[in-house]
Amino acid sequence: MDPIRVQLQNVLSGPITARIQFGLAGVMVNRSLFRDVSTAVAGNSTPNGRLFPIRVVVNPGLRSNRAFRNALTGVVISPGIDAQYDGTTNSFIFSNPCLATLDARALAVHESVHAGFDLHRVKITAIDDEAAAYIAQCLYLIYAGHTFGTGMTPTFTAAAAAAATVARGLQITSGQIADLRAALWNDPNYTEIRKKTYQYTHDG
Ligand SMILES: [Zn+2]
Repeated sequence: MDPIRVQLQNVLSGPITARIQFGLAGVMVNRSLFRDVSTAVAGNSTPNGRLFPIRVVVNPGLRSNRAFRNALTGVVISPGIDAQYDGTTNSFIFSNPCLATLDARALAVHESVHAGFDLHRVKITAIDDEAAAYIAQCLYLIYAGHTFGTGMTPTFTAAAAAAATVARGLQITSGQIADLRAALWNDPNYTEIRKKTYQYTHDG
């Protein structure tokens, strides 16, 4: 098995991720963002020197520290895989050293959106940060051939609806964005982002 860093790079530079493209709150999520994250994960700064290396670590303790959700439905389960991007230490943290499953790869794409926004010092509320990450995660699932089933959380349901619109080549509607923001606002996993002005650490 490749090191987790290489597995993550393979996801970021793969054909499924390359199809993800949409705008939200004035920010673009596209293959160029994922390519920059892959460059940073390789340990390189970009040629203009503005971007920085990002570490990739495995910490099984992440499971016990954080709620553990099915990345296909958002439902809390145990055991499984979980992941996090930490903008203060510029690190991906995975609880499992293997990105072999579809849900693990989709979750890696989700965290890569947070990493890309940190890399580019994007000013965006934490709610919209999560909204973009969930839409990218759902687009990865759609482009990988996954069909959404029943039993999804409100956050996943709203993100999947927005992603389906993007997959049809259309713009995400303002109603879909409002639904996703409302779902995140009421999501028990994200109580810390409820302050409307709250932003994740995007200090580069
Ligand atoms: Zn997130």
